[in-house]
Amino acid sequence: MDKFQALKHYFGYDRFREGQETLIDGILKGKDALGIMPTGSGKSLCFQIPALMMEGITLVISPLISLMKDQVTTLNQAGIHAAYLNSSLTANQYYKALAYAREGRYPIIYVAPERLMTEQFLDFALHTKISMVAVDEAHCVSQWGQDFRPSYLKILDFIEKLPERPVISAFTATATKEVREDVIDILMLREPVIVSTGYDRPNLYLGVQTPKDKYATLKNYVECHPNQCGIIYCLTRKLVEEVCDKLNADGFSATRYHAGLSDAERRKNQDDFIFDRNTIMVATNAFGMGIDKSNVRFVIHYNMPKNLESYYQEVGRCSRDGEPGECILLYSGQDVVTNQMFVDNNQDNQELDPLTRRIVIERDRERLKKMTFYSFTNECLRDYILRYFGEYGENYCGNCSNCISQFESVDVTAISKALIGCVESSRQRYGTTVIIDTVHGANTAKIRNYRMNENPYYSSLAKVPSYKLRQVMNHLFLNDFLEVTNDEYAIVKLTEKSKAILEDQETVVMKMAKEQEPVPKEKNSKKMKKPNGAAAELTKEDEIIFEKLRNLRLKIAKEEKVPPYIVFSDKTLLHMAVIKPKTKEEMLTVSGVGEFKVEKYGNTFLEIFKL
Ligand code: ADP
Ligand code: MG
Repeated sequence: MDKFQALKHYFGYDRFREGQETLIDGILKGKDALGIMPTGSGKSLCFQIPALMMEGITLVISPLISLMKDQVTTLNQAGIHAAYLNSSLTANQYYKALAYAREGRYPIIYVAPERLMTEQFLDFALHTKISMVAVDEAHCVSQWGQDFRPSYLKILDFIEKLPERPVISAFTATATKEVREDVIDILMLREPVIVSTGYDRPNLYLGVQTPKDKYATLKNYVECHPNQCGIIYCLTRKLVEEVCDKLNADGFSATRYHAGLSDAERRKNQDDFIFDRNTIMVATNAFGMGIDKSNVRFVIHYNMPKNLESYYQEVGRCSRDGEPGECILLYSGQDVVTNQMFVDNNQDNQELDPLTRRIVIERDRERLKKMTFYSFTNECLRDYILRYFGEYGENYCGNCSNCISQFESVDVTAISKALIGCVESSRQRYGTTVIIDTVHGANTAKIRNYRMNENPYYSSLAKVPSYKLRQVMNHLFLNDFLEVTNDEYAIVKLTEKSKAILEDQETVVMKMAKEQEPVPKEKNSKKMKKPNGAAAELTKEDEIIFEKLRNLRLKIAKEEKVPPYIVFSDKTLLHMAVIKPKTKEEMLTVSGVGEFKVEKYGNTFLEIFKL
């Protein structure tokens, strides 16, 4: 079976997503691999598919029991033998699983890092062919990450004990340079194939509001989104209790999660949410790690979190299946004060020496500031986040509250003409900054040295702020009106399209943030109901079918005691409602339906289309 057949046969998908193939091919050639891809982008398949194709066993290291359980259930549902070994098993279950593993029944075994160096596990691992060790959530090895786990440091000790070094692959959604270098160094990856795909989640609508009455705004939102699953994040346990109680009193189906509840209650509430028994989860940031639920349709922050890393990780739990989802931050000045207090009194820092502690606090304050700016910016919210993570793109996404309400189309032909003219007249010898400084009329030593103050365009756009010039320049690059050499000098060059602008044959129009004071955005509250592109385009008839399919799924899920999205994802059901398969063959063309699931559920679901 090749990788495409495996993708179709087991998982029911026709195409790989960005980055998946490169990683899979690398691994199959025996190379180490590092995949840095955002949450929901499909990292698991990158090790699961090679695991099925390689001889021997793949060990997957994962930090949380819930994550392992979810992935193993998903694999079993796809007809793949997989098991997990962690502290949730009784001694008996553990021995049994190990015995099956010895017999070679499982191509994929999930292991908690704490287990690796135990005698029993080593005894098994040293006498079996381990073809790959896949480290999921690999940022846990790094002290720079938010979820450092000392037990992850044992992974390398374990690998070094093995008679033959397996392929090592590592996967994470954390993209900062420090974490990435730590993963490579600590796991000692050897010339790994590295794939780092974009951070953008274009299916997520991003919004910020500063409502006078947060609860009223929230209530209005959930009323407008009946039957949708969502998470509401609050900063404190007290608020979680309060909001959850109010929602329930108002007739919504909400449950709660925070570190002050007993283990048993936390587990129960989490399950109620995952199994769709409660549609709304109100929680502190303690909730979410290890939640693979793919049909969370909104993530509302009742308070602003302490930094953008947390924010983006939390909104990352929205619509992991790629369908439209909405992420809204309800800001108030008090949130900054509360966070400031958290930062200054962070108990995790108590053991640090005073100097390090000061540095850590400084760093956290800086991050809080950037988060606060996010709540106030007039710029595209998506662009703001992507820039924070070191990615550059268009400054307009069309799917955030700012782009919808704060942007206007601006004719930038005159600015473009000056920028291009400046590049041409200085004979294409300089980089972006020199060009912008020239037209802006900067009086710096560099400009004088290059004698750009004598350039005909010098100071011709003195009135346009430099950040705007940079945006236009970026727009010109993205639309091939100019280009930059791909070397360390990054010289701006003309393209075939440049001339059209210089000769007035073409106009350039782009979206730009409106000039205005960053005032609170009360009036956006209307926008909550239907942001751009948020509704799937189903006909009335399809919608009825979709509802029937969902009910059937719920029934099956209850019988099998698995979460509904493990049976089929929302996306799969939507696709099914549109395609309306009449036979098993047609059913197999639905995205997310593989051979095993067709055998298992095909006939039941086909009944719905026999009308
Ligand atoms: P990650 O670990 O990167 O957060 P997952 O591996 O949990 O993401 O995958 C998220 C979702 O995307 C899952 O529902 C998975 O089945 C789906 N998925 C993965 N690869 C593909 C693909 N090639 N085509 C369609 N859906 C995919
Ligand atoms: Mg994952």
